[in-house]
Amino acid sequence: MSDTSNELFELHWLFDMLHNIDVGLVVLDTNYEVQLWNSFMENHSGVSSITAKNKSLFSVFPDLNAEWLQKKLDNVVALRTPIFISWEQRPFLFSFKSYRPITGIAEKMFQNVTIRPLSHVDGSIKYVCMVIYDVTDVATNKAALSAANRKLHVMSTSDALTGLKNRSSLDKALDMAFRSFRASPTSEHSLVMIDIDFFKKVNDQYGHQTGDLVLKEVANTLTKSSRKGDFVGRFGGEEFAILLPNCSEDNAFIYCEKLRKQIEALTISSPKGDIKITMSLGVSQLSEDDSTIATWLSKADDALYQAKEKGRNQTLIFK
Ligand code: GH3
Ligand code: MG
Ligand code: MG
Repeated sequence: MSDTSNELFELHWLFDMLHNIDVGLVVLDTNYEVQLWNSFMENHSGVSSITAKNKSLFSVFPDLNAEWLQKKLDNVVALRTPIFISWEQRPFLFSFKSYRPITGIAEKMFQNVTIRPLSHVDGSIKYVCMVIYDVTDVATNKAALSAANRKLHVMSTSDALTGLKNRSSLDKALDMAFRSFRASPTSEHSLVMIDIDFFKKVNDQYGHQTGDLVLKEVANTLTKSSRKGDFVGRFGGEEFAILLPNCSEDNAFIYCEKLRKQIEALTISSPKGDIKITMSLGVSQLSEDDSTIATWLSKADDALYQAKEKGRNQTLIFK
């Protein structure tokens, strides 16, 4: 075989491989008219190479953001440098369906796209080549990983029964309030400790499962009444803690009384009949005397103890 026919064979193979390669290949001239449209593009768009040939890309794909893409294509020609468009910037350029059998979560194919200039023998740029990579697997894996991480974060910071923040996130929130107070000693931060009254009786009379239901209902009421920035947590058992940043003890008292009345008015239905409960609350505003978070906590706890002593179903401020 002569050298020329060898080269022709190689060219034929190369063309065949490029046509059938599992990435999208599109060559455009400077009028954005399609010069090459490989089988990947045919299969995913449903537009044959014959149909696409010599037509403007924007008439073949009216959904494309023409203004944006034309600017990109013009830049590639003018600057003679390739550009890369990541799926993280723009999930896809061509709206193709995703046919991945396993990762069937994504409806559309996620794409990475490179656009590179094709130089002519005389050095001029008359064509650009777009390469479209299907990165649906990468994108869906990343989305699944992020979702798992978010779930893990929620699980590690919240209480499984009530969905309120757990003890360790309360410690973090208290620490933040403590630091903010140190930085600005005129700021006011109040801590509320709450304990359901005679909760043992609820368990004894209605069963532990119903007791759990009561805890959830109380948690819902506390959450609904809280403002953005308030921290509502389950301290343990049937005890709750609420951190009210930028709130004086007097304002905290008003808030607590509103909460207490809401709980008092609550009727929880159970198979063994309706349940009524009350709760006691202790408030403590962070002061310069509180050398540690533990001191602050124990003052709120002390106020709660006093509220219990004085007959329950009431709010007391630590004095
Ligand atoms: P008071 O606080 O008014 O003094 O009385 P109390 O009956 O609530 O007293 P105490 O705090 O000693 O009892 C709390 C009870 O809460 C004891 C425990 O069985 C129950 N409890 C703690 N955690 C849970 C839980 O997750 N679910 C249920 N159902 N009960 C719990
Ligand atoms: Mg208790
Ligand atoms: Mg109790």
